[in-house]
Amino acid sequence: MSSCTVIIVAAGSGQRFGGPVPKQYQELGGMPILRRSVLAFLGHPHITAVQVVISPQHRDHYDRAVAGLDLPPPIHGGASRQDSVRLGLEALAKSGKPDLVMIHDAARPLIDAATITAVRKALDHATGAIAAKPLVDTLKRGNAGAIEATIDRSHLWQAHTPQAFHFDAIHAAHQAAAGAQLTDDAAVAEKAGLTVTLVASNADNMKITNPDDLGRAARLLGQNFGDIRTGLGFDVHRLVPGDIIHLCGLTLPHHHTLAGHSDADVALHAVVDAILGAMSAGDIGQYFPPSDPQWKGKDSAHFVRHVVRMVNERGGMIAHVDVTMMCESPKIGPHRDAMQKRLAELLEVTPDRVSVKATTTERLGFTGREEGIAAQAVATVRFPG
Ligand code: MG
Repeated sequence: MSSCTVIIVAAGSGQRFGGPVPKQYQELGGMPILRRSVLAFLGHPHITAVQVVISPQHRDHYDRAVAGLDLPPPIHGGASRQDSVRLGLEALAKSGKPDLVMIHDAARPLIDAATITAVRKALDHATGAIAAKPLVDTLKRGNAGAIEATIDRSHLWQAHTPQAFHFDAIHAAHQAAAGAQLTDDAAVAEKAGLTVTLVASNADNMKITNPDDLGRAARLLGQNFGDIRTGLGFDVHRLVPGDIIHLCGLTLPHHHTLAGHSDADVALHAVVDAILGAMSAGDIGQYFPPSDPQWKGKDSAHFVRHVVRMVNERGGMIAHVDVTMMCESPKIGPHRDAMQKRLAELLEVTPDRVSVKATTTERLGFTGREEGIAAQAVATVRFPG
């Protein structure tokens, strides 16, 4: 199979959007727009690698947006989109160039797997292929607010991304076109005399340009993630003499510790089981059996990251997690905000999608006698459907 790298162009200033965060790093459905675009390609069967091109000034935003994803270091882009793509191609040419390359705008996070496949397949018979949409509205040419002419719309398409090419051909075309003011890679290819095939884009493959687009994209996303599932997790660990306790991703001083094969973070275990439950994918013991020495003393954050990756690989998103710890001590109140923040980080969602609560059991039962701590969690996970 031919290797195919995707260059995701995210180097724009996004200034039309306003606000301190450039548009490609703003949240859409609980996830930065760039991350959503990256995830659309990462794990796609026709894609070998994903390479993001960024503005060096946005490095902190980038690191936060793609935390935990398996990506090479970003390439620094240039002043225009065309410069950024050329710099991306030049970097790939030096670091083990792929057979094929797709170029995708970070601002089109709603690209679907079928369009990616169709664009890739078109390269079996063409040097270039782009996702595009036939024009359906009647076109008018205006002059001072009045119609001057009606333009024949047949044969007219709106160019979308991804735009895919045989690597050597587009690399040479971009080098030859350096300094020209072309707004997409197909134009660069046309200038070099390459034939570029049009492939119908998925209907929702919109470009987020203005703040209004964000609301429209969020509505589309909501419709696209209509398969909403809920999972329940419950866990108990025994308290034994000790001096620290791992609870909801934090390490706290305590007069006891939780016993278990891993770090025994009872709250994170409940969260992991809730997410697995929402996927109908078994329980934590199947993935991380206590009999396996590699999990001894393991930071339970690892287990959470694993199930978050499972959700991502199935094209899903975590909508919400609510966890309740049942214990007499430690008091959770002083740590609640830090726990919420840590859990949100691990789940790769914004903190408003995470709820952390605690209750005592009025000194009743094993939790009341401080023999152990119990936790339960509910996860809401959305999948395409
Ligand atoms: Mg456990």
